[in-house]
Amino acid sequence: MIITKQKPFEKIMEMTEPFGKLFVVGCGKCATVCQTGGENEVHGMVEKLSDKISGFTVVEEPCDLRLTRRDLKEHKETIAESDAVLVMNCGVGVQTIAEYTGKIALPALDTMFIGMTERIGRYYERCKACQDCILDETGGVCPIARCPKALLNGPCGGQVEGKCEVGEYKDDCAWVLIWKKLTEQDRLEEFTKFRPPRNHYTKILTTKLIS
Ligand code: SF4
Ligand code: SF4
Repeated sequence: MIITKQKPFEKIMEMTEPFGKLFVVGCGKCATVCQTGGENEVHGMVEKLSDKISGFTVVEEPCDLRLTRRDLKEHKETIAESDAVLVMNCGVGVQTIAEYTGKIALPALDTMFIGMTERIGRYYERCKACQDCILDETGGVCPIARCPKALLNGPCGGQVEGKCEVGEYKDDCAWVLIWKKLTEQDRLEEFTKFRPPRNHYTKILTTKLIS
């Protein structure tokens, strides 16, 4: 899931200040689960900014251009007459809505990461969408998301008693977790395997998976 948090309301006020009429768009998927941009939060925002609101809706899945088109169709005229769209989605939703509407899209949320949910408000970053998954080699622990230096051949000299130097030794060192998992699995040969540096110039930004 994409984890988001709402920007402080003062920041939203500052961002929306130059615009007269605003159309508010929520998200029926991740931001609903995070309780940052679902029905309730959209209604809350509409109430707070009532003088400026031209209309509002919640798109089923705003990161899907097809569903954005479908769900915003009936609001097309209201959106066209609005000065900007206040988007309570992750950054992907903000960009999809800007692309579809052609309007200035203002992000009401901050996108945090791709994460695992334990309960509302408690999330753990687990993937950075690196396009070359090596979880099979690392005992299912992601070194890109869980090591602040994204080391492919850790641990670095900063781990102390299994804790990471980044963040005052509160979090587990990802590479110690990897070592523990691979030990449990009797696969330590994966731990000593050298993984060469990655060429980030080859990162694919537009993917066509099905022709
Ligand atoms: S290695 Fe980590 S960042 Fe890369 S795809 Fe796998 S889980 Fe995601
Ligand atoms: S201590 Fe471990 S998790 Fe922290 S930066 Fe070094 S290798 Fe990465």
